Amino acid sequence: MARYTAAVCRLCRRSGDKLMLKGSRCFSPKCAMDRRPKPPGQQPMRRRRRLSDRGIQLREKQKARYSYGVLERQFRRFFGQAERQAGITGENLLVLLERRLDNVVYRLGFADSRAQARQLVMHGHIVLNGRKTDIPSALVKEGDTINWKESSTRTEYYKQLVPSIESKVIPSWLSLDMEKLIGRVASLPTPDEIEAKVEWQSIVEYYSR
Ligand code: SF4
Repeated sequence: MARYTAAVCRLCRRSGDKLMLKGSRCFSPKCAMDRRPKPPGQQPMRRRRRLSDRGIQLREKQKARYSYGVLERQFRRFFGQAERQAGITGENLLVLLERRLDNVVYRLGFADSRAQARQLVMHGHIVLNGRKTDIPSALVKEGDTINWKESSTRTEYYKQLVPSIESKVIPSWLSLDMEKLIGRVASLPTPDEIEAKVEWQSIVEYYSR
């Protein structure tokens, strides 16, 4: 499936927000949003255009898509699923995206970014409930365990990860055995527990037209 492969910092500059797509670089002075916060392709003196309501809705939808690394068709499918669930559609969508396996691998601190987490999953390093799973969009549920494939624990990446994992902040809906690097979904996330800089209602409005 085609994926966005150009410089991801352009996505932040286009959205006008730090989407944290590049791991540790996002916290460094090299962050493009700190150095050149203007939209890509614009002359330095030109101001950011004032967006219409539709433009704001589109921007919020794209921010969510870029943040979670989801293509339009799949994002639309998630939205349809969120709509069919009871409750507030925007919040349902947020929770569905958060339950993606690649996101959980990222939240557990196994990767610095969702893109890196996605790679780990696709390359078969991650085991979900005792079975190797290479589908980044697989949705976790309460009680699921997420750990490393036995042979992957002998890689340099894993060996360097173990001592650094203690400094990572794990969300309250996940738990992690720091020694064996076994993660567990303690409960499904609630919207309040999810850190995301997106106006979810704007996304609902975008698709409601
Ligand atoms: Fe966005 Fe991170 Fe690039 Fe900064 S370094 S522009 S936060 S992806």
